[in-house]
Amino acid sequence: MSSAKKPYYVGAHVSAAGGVQNAPLNAAKIGANAFAVFTKNQRQWNAKPLTPEGIAEFKANCEAEGFLPEQILPHDSYLINLGHPEAEPLERSRNAFLDEMHRCQQLGLCYLNFHPGSHLKKIDIDACLGRIAESINIALAESEGVTAVLETTAGQGTNLGWRFEELAQIIDQVEDQSRVGVCIDTCHIFAAGYDLRTEEVCEQSFGDYERLIGFDKLCGMHINDCKSVFGSRVDRHHSLGMGEIGWAPFKYIMQDDRFRGVPLCLETIDETIWDQEIQQLRTFAGEKQLERADA
Ligand SMILES: [Zn+2]
Ligand SMILES: [Zn+2]
Repeated sequence: MSSAKKPYYVGAHVSAAGGVQNAPLNAAKIGANAFAVFTKNQRQWNAKPLTPEGIAEFKANCEAEGFLPEQILPHDSYLINLGHPEAEPLERSRNAFLDEMHRCQQLGLCYLNFHPGSHLKKIDIDACLGRIAESINIALAESEGVTAVLETTAGQGTNLGWRFEELAQIIDQVEDQSRVGVCIDTCHIFAAGYDLRTEEVCEQSFGDYERLIGFDKLCGMHINDCKSVFGSRVDRHHSLGMGEIGWAPFKYIMQDDRFRGVPLCLETIDETIWDQEIQQLRTFAGEKQLERADA
């Protein structure tokens, strides 16, 4: 949760090739003090369980590089649809999501970021939102210590969660309010129709977020510019300052204490400039290069 006393946590969605234990090392290399990661292959249903060695190595690498759980935002598989209209695929999604919650728990992490779900034109929006909330309730009841973090979507296809009202409707139906939160993706909300192109409209869009959901629920952000046009509901990320949004919201975020203390993770398209993008964000906050014990 954000707090004026906490630092800015800035990083990127880094590779876990060779094992999740490599993610903190990859994040440290680009000057990050936050990262997002997949704890299993995001395009497959099944994954080998984490090994005790892999878990121990992940924790040791996080400690060595100075990453606390609150600086890490794991992302679930793209295959999971917690609002699936049909019983059997819904069950498969719920099982896979619970497995992801357990993986986060084993790694000592406190968040799991996911896309709310899609109605696939087979059930109405209210029914789908209710199903998503029920899926969250089931996962929270069968896990411990991990907050389910709903991501704002671009509203592409039949994906729900592109309007803050829809996320609020899901959150309202979650039994354990202490373990449900939100990740705002700047590209997604811009594509969904929340303008970010000037300081003034940032004030409005984040004001809408504050009014409908609240910053006490903010557990992280995806920091992306957008290739697709405003309100297009098309999800296409771009490097910061190179897309339709421009620099305004990134400067705004880095000068507003409401965004401190939660992982701010780039998912921009050119990973070779992530270190520069991170540095630019820190510069907006008036910070110098991250000081690292081993740097
Ligand atoms: Zn996502
Ligand atoms: Zn996206």
